Amino acid sequence: MFAEGWLKKVYEEKPVPVRTRFPPEPNGFLHIGHAKAITVNFGFAEYHGGVCFLRFDDTNPEKEDEIFFTSIIDMVKWLGFKPYQITYSSDNFDRLYELAEELIKRDKAYVCHCSQEETNNQRGGPDNRGKRYGCAHRDRPIEESLSEFRAMRDGKYEPREAFLRMKQKLTDPSEGNPQMWDLPAYRVVKKSHPRTGDKWRIYPTYDFTHCLCDAFEEISHSLCTTEFYLSRTSYDWLCEALDFKIPGSESKGPMQREYGRLNVAGTILSKRRIQMLVEGSLKHNILPAVRGWDDPRFELGVTDALTNIEVTRFEQTVRRHLEQTAPRLSLILDPIPVTIEDLPEDYSTELRIPFHPKKPDGDARTVTLSRKIYIDRSDFLEKDDPNFFRLAPNKTVGLLNVPFLIRCTGFTKSDSGDVESIQAVKVEGGEKPKAYIHWVDATSCTPATARIYNALFLSDEPNTLDWKEGGWVKSLNPNSEVVYENAVVEKAGLEELRKMEKGEMIRFQGLRTGYFCVDEKDSEAKGKVMLNQIVSLKEDTSK
Ligand code: ATP
Ligand code: MG
Ligand code: MG
Repeated sequence: MFAEGWLKKVYEEKPVPVRTRFPPEPNGFLHIGHAKAITVNFGFAEYHGGVCFLRFDDTNPEKEDEIFFTSIIDMVKWLGFKPYQITYSSDNFDRLYELAEELIKRDKAYVCHCSQEETNNQRGGPDNRGKRYGCAHRDRPIEESLSEFRAMRDGKYEPREAFLRMKQKLTDPSEGNPQMWDLPAYRVVKKSHPRTGDKWRIYPTYDFTHCLCDAFEEISHSLCTTEFYLSRTSYDWLCEALDFKIPGSESKGPMQREYGRLNVAGTILSKRRIQMLVEGSLKHNILPAVRGWDDPRFELGVTDALTNIEVTRFEQTVRRHLEQTAPRLSLILDPIPVTIEDLPEDYSTELRIPFHPKKPDGDARTVTLSRKIYIDRSDFLEKDDPNFFRLAPNKTVGLLNVPFLIRCTGFTKSDSGDVESIQAVKVEGGEKPKAYIHWVDATSCTPATARIYNALFLSDEPNTLDWKEGGWVKSLNPNSEVVYENAVVEKAGLEELRKMEKGEMIRFQGLRTGYFCVDEKDSEAKGKVMLNQIVSLKEDTSK
């Protein structure tokens, strides 16, 4: 990956000791897209014997939270990388402020008091096609901008009343790049910051901060995603304006290069948008759409980084991995009790069953079999059908891992018409059954809630939805979560797994059902085993 293609070209452009950075904004938990960013930045540095910083881009105190800082550190570690240093953009606030004053003194920044609407008009109106022009503040004396900037710093202005803007190429009719139309460098935010407290009332923007922090850390290759492609010009402009780069040359200072974002069809990979799903939108009166930041519909796992992957392809990789590694347990989502009537009342036998069918000598669990078991409602038909090979009146079926078969001799129904219980007898010898079904022993199982997940969005391209106005709500899949409240699962087997996993997340294949993990946090809260489906057993081709 690092010896060929795009990354090879990037290195050839600048074959110097490699210093990179992974620069998350601490405004959310990381997602699989970040796994690509982390692998690209840390991996590229590692491959070339260089170093990679983990830099928290913490310039927006409105969105930041302590928990995001720690979880991001954990995630980088979990992916197997070690930051050369953990740094914070906010550690540079003093230096950045000094440089902002320096920029004003060089007549390359000015304090502007224009409204959003007025600024948009200066940039050619709503479609950016109109004539561009500078406002009166653009030409105000350097001394005046300097004292206004200090007034901003000292709290004289409320948010949106004043900005420090870079004096780029807004008024140059030949400059078609909107990232050069006098972007803001500083804004008023009267919020306390998780690291600098109440010291600042103004905070630098991404466009002002990022390239300068890269320069301070002597980053050689500033690798970012393609939505920053147009920002490369302003990145260089600011570095050059403050002598961190030589105009038209990459020989000094950091060099920005862009790679494609990772997208997974049917979901979104942007922290800001995930935040809307988690918190809903007060502004548009929209309720949250998921259980929280750790909702399984976000948590898909990790695979090789491709730029655009179909979710089915991604799930297939997860499935292939789990097929080889996940232990098996029996889980019944929608149980019906079956009494094997010719077994004695107190019948109970213990079977030793390996956790993995392909590893018969590997770890095993003890499974009790008694006179009463549960099978899944979908494995029973009240009225037999010649194309149905599982349990039905008078039909014989195999039970997985059990040395005998059972034949259904009767069933009872509740007032509401649902099958309530099934009676059966044991069948020994005879023909091999057409099907084996899974079962859970009724005397030794534990109740569970199992949540099955489908795509969160009906659209394959939810990123194209109207996010600001809450347009995503219409595309939410009403069946993205299906909950089985009355599931049952092997109890002893689960306890065995708990011992084997020593505190790691428990994942298993529910026989004939799907891959699940135990949601320990929810299990503790609810006092019951809570299971989240990771992926189904087979690809769902019904869509
Ligand atoms: P936001 O939507 O709030 O900007 P984000 O998901 O883009 O959030 P950042 O914290 O801005 O997350 O991103 C940190 C780094 O990870 C950036 O360099 C960004 O380009 C990269 N990154 C984010 N999402 C992806 C993705 N889907 N694929 C590859 N890289 C990504
Ligand atoms: Mg961001
Ligand atoms: Mg981003």
